[in-house]
Amino acid sequence: MKIQVVGVVGAGVMGIGLAQNLAQSGHQVILIDISEEILERANAQIKKNIRFQGFFNKNEKVENSENILHKIKFSTNYQFLESAEFVIENATEKWDIKKGIYAQLDAICPESTIFAANTSAISITRIASVTKRADKVIGMHFMNPVPMKPMVEMIRGYHTSDETISTAKELLSQMGKESILVNDSPGFVSNRVLMLTINEAIFLLQDQVASIEQVDRIFKNCFGHKMGPLETADLIGLDTILFSIEVLYESFNDSKYRPCPMLKKMVDAGLHGRKSGQGFYTYNVVS
Ligand code: NAD
Repeated sequence: MKIQVVGVVGAGVMGIGLAQNLAQSGHQVILIDISEEILERANAQIKKNIRFQGFFNKNEKVENSENILHKIKFSTNYQFLESAEFVIENATEKWDIKKGIYAQLDAICPESTIFAANTSAISITRIASVTKRADKVIGMHFMNPVPMKPMVEMIRGYHTSDETISTAKELLSQMGKESILVNDSPGFVSNRVLMLTINEAIFLLQDQVASIEQVDRIFKNCFGHKMGPLETADLIGLDTILFSIEVLYESFNDSKYRPCPMLKKMVDAGLHGRKSGQGFYTYNVVS
């Protein structure tokens, strides 16, 4: 049976992409964030992204932005999520924030609603422990930009049921995506490796071993990667990188995950990457 109504919590980089992708695959979306201003920016960004999608996929018919936006309800009111059959949470990568959100979702949503955490590094078992439905909590680690990335890293928490996994896969297939299922561990597979790589690339800059462009070119031209680690960091968001590496550091109590001081300084200075217009490189942003 097709899932009709999907809640998306957090209207940042990931929530915007998810809301767009879900609306384009025919779902009704309830997009929640903490302020009207953020939601207005999300609305404008989705419109812009759909225009770009139409421009890049000239051979594909892209539904017009008004029809797609019509399927998304933008709100600061969590109560609307009482009608959601599936909720995907994409709020800031901070345990204190996520903990509060899951307790709220657990109180508002019907018992049957599945909660998917699109976290970068926090353990799914830990997230599930805040709810009374640990069997219905799953990790769905989407890639950025969501509408363009066909693969999702799916994470089985300690109590996640087979039924929840199968429903999550069904939703992904409705969105035109596939998944790779892994067991729960902070950072899962992708970010346990990627966050260390990015952090170490920033140490290389700090130690003046190479320039930004040189670091990225080595990965692209020598290893054939599409993007270098510093370009990837800008795409993800430097604040999200810092929060994720802090989660790994706290989760494993292992000093190899200590965040690079240069990363901390850039985040404190408001250099958050593409979304802020400045990271290792400079970008245009929607105002
Ligand atoms: P972001 O900073 O762009 O957006 C986070 C949003 O969460 C903000 O709009 C913020 O206002 C909102 N938020 C904070 N508290 C909230 C609350 N109580 N209720 C509702 N919304 C709240 O971050 P992002 O890059 O979209 O990342 C979101 C999540 O997705 C994080 O857990 C991150 O680790 C994960 N993630 C990010 C990427 C990436 O490439 N950026 C990829 C996969 C997963």
